[in-house]
Amino acid sequence: MALVAMAAPLEQPHYVILITIDGMRAEMVDDPLMPSPFLKMMSRDGLRIQRVTGIPPAETYPSHTTIVTGATPAQHHIYYNRPFMWNQDVPRISYWYADSIAVPTIWQRAHEAGMKTASLFWPVSTGSPYIDYNVPEFWSLDYSCDQMEYIKPWCAPLGILDELEQNACGKLNTITYQAGSLQRDGRTAAMANYLMNHYQPRLMTIHLITTDYSQHALGTHSQELLQDMASCDHAVGTIIENLRLTGRMDSTLVVVCGDHGFCDYYQTLSPNVWLTRAGLLSEQPGGDWKACFYSSGNTSFLYLRKAGDNKTLRRVRQLLANLPANERALFRVVEKDELTAKGADPAVALALEPVVGVSVTNNRTGEVVEQKRGGTHGFISGQDITTLIAYGAGVTPGHQDSIAQTAIAPWLLQLLGIK
Ligand SMILES: [Zn+2]
Repeated sequence: MALVAMAAPLEQPHYVILITIDGMRAEMVDDPLMPSPFLKMMSRDGLRIQRVTGIPPAETYPSHTTIVTGATPAQHHIYYNRPFMWNQDVPRISYWYADSIAVPTIWQRAHEAGMKTASLFWPVSTGSPYIDYNVPEFWSLDYSCDQMEYIKPWCAPLGILDELEQNACGKLNTITYQAGSLQRDGRTAAMANYLMNHYQPRLMTIHLITTDYSQHALGTHSQELLQDMASCDHAVGTIIENLRLTGRMDSTLVVVCGDHGFCDYYQTLSPNVWLTRAGLLSEQPGGDWKACFYSSGNTSFLYLRKAGDNKTLRRVRQLLANLPANERALFRVVEKDELTAKGADPAVALALEPVVGVSVTNNRTGEVVEQKRGGTHGFISGQDITTLIAYGAGVTPGHQDSIAQTAIAPWLLQLLGIK
């Protein structure tokens, strides 16, 4: 069902604040034991979409790009968090730069409609000319450097991060703004409130990430997740409180959603080990190869060095068909038709989707199956879907079962009055 059908605006919002809580699952809002009082209030009094079905793979960078474009990875070209590097031995860069996005974003559409835009730590936003106040998610691969100083030249306008440090959040460093730390969420909210109060962007996007870290490390049930959830919820709460105190709540729509959900795993599967054993892939990046699985999100995407190399593809299929039953039972083969229909990278020949409880890796040597535990996301079939809450101006309170993640961007544009 289209989101717009349920969300007939009571009143057009003047401001839209879109917040992602990384890895947010419906249970994190609905479970009474979850420390999420602000999200519970927003869900009760606002518009709640229980299930948001994602794109392949449901992974932070492609999913965030789908949220701000309404497009699939095949359309927006942000296929993974990090590009597949065709077996080259090169540093693990991410899709950082906004000019990698092949379709218009909601920042662009709002900017071109004459609206001021802002964004805090949104993936694939670095260098966007359409974000007036931008602190992007961006970092140096030299982890010994001062990361917050490193990103300052990439913020817009120049000097904005110094201004935020002086007036909103204090000095940011690896103690006060460590990725995955509780301190980070509150400081991000303080920056958002400062930008709102001083510059009044009509559209602001904010990425809160703490909940992703604890769920990757410890799965969907841990003491740490409760602490992280309380931290993200409090960050959302301080943004709502600021809107109330400054008289803007009645004219603002606050949307909170995840980029993907999470599933627990108890085993890992490393399909490239089969390829190296069969002589189709070098044991280290940079060597000779014919085929390579790229595990990103929780799906392994098969790339062939030569497009249309059907001989190698047949060998891979044969290899998969001849696996021992205990290994073959851990995944399904996702064929090209399904990948195309769902919007995956068109260069992928086929993919392997593990069963729930299994996480795929890029390991090329060692055991195919190992006993390890943690949390993962990025299935093709939606086992790890996320949820959405819209609270404030422009929405009719109520519940809706599900929407596609691709429906969020057009809906927000419609609410802002942008065709
Ligand atoms: Zn994420």
